[in-house]
Amino acid sequence: MTPLPELQALLDSIAEEVRPLAARGRVADYIPALAAVDPSRFGIALATVEGGVVGSGDWEARFSLQSVSKAFALAWVLARDGDALWTRVGREPSGNPFNSLVQLEFEHGIPRNPFINAGALVVVDRMLSHTGDATGTLLEILRQESGRADVDVDLDVASSEAAHGHRNAALAHFMASYGNLENDVDAVLDHYVRQCAVAMSCGELARAGLFLARHGVRADGSQLLTRSEAKRVNAILLTCGTYDAAGDFAYRVGLPGKSGVGGGILTVLPGRGCLVVWGPALDRAGNSVAGVEALDRFTTRTGWSVF
Ligand code: GLN
Repeated sequence: MTPLPELQALLDSIAEEVRPLAARGRVADYIPALAAVDPSRFGIALATVEGGVVGSGDWEARFSLQSVSKAFALAWVLARDGDALWTRVGREPSGNPFNSLVQLEFEHGIPRNPFINAGALVVVDRMLSHTGDATGTLLEILRQESGRADVDVDLDVASSEAAHGHRNAALAHFMASYGNLENDVDAVLDHYVRQCAVAMSCGELARAGLFLARHGVRADGSQLLTRSEAKRVNAILLTCGTYDAAGDFAYRVGLPGKSGVGGGILTVLPGRGCLVVWGPALDRAGNSVAGVEALDRFTTRTGWSVF
């Protein structure tokens, strides 16, 4: 592994180079609370499997996880349900926007994968069936893995999204009409929105995602996923984690990754570490413009991709 001071210098130069790219994107304004975030912010952090953490820019500022939370929710549910999950949701790239209604109708209420909104609603539904508290279950994993007990839901973001959540409500009701939700639709939507509204920093998130780089092993040494399950989650991250831009992301970055409309992207360097970026200005697919560019530069300069 490259020494930490060298990695620090690399992150510093990448942060400085990509920050101006925010001007090429737009913050997510369909959730009003996210529209208020300063688009010029940028953070990047790397947590290594050896225990080191380096970061640059706004890497200690908390931001809204949004769909990045879906990576953790899927890991938790896959560990419990195994292959049975795949009767409820597919695992193919969507090639459509993350909130598309059209595809769901074509496919009779079975979402294409767990990382588009409809698929994540199914995952939340399974968490609710298992524990009755999908948000609490997610928070427990995030707190334990990041080592930060104060990680929590930003209630302003949650209520802002809930008040504008007509499209997700449509997806959920549509799936319920096909019998593909086990719990009350409003409860599923409520937990989904609160999971998305969890706030964490790049550094905290990079630590929290390390189990995916350690082949399923958690911070306390226990196994969240088997080696084979961790491989599978990483495969779905690579093929579906950045929505209809997953092909371009694989081409440019070459890492399993999960983005969110808060501007965060979590990526996994299997066996090495977890690299997280945050830049609130998004491209048309809903991925951080400065974030994707930073990851592209990082893997290009280090050669650390899965390819
Ligand atoms: N909460 C957001 C939504 O449901 C998450 C979408 C995202 O981050 N791509 O629209």
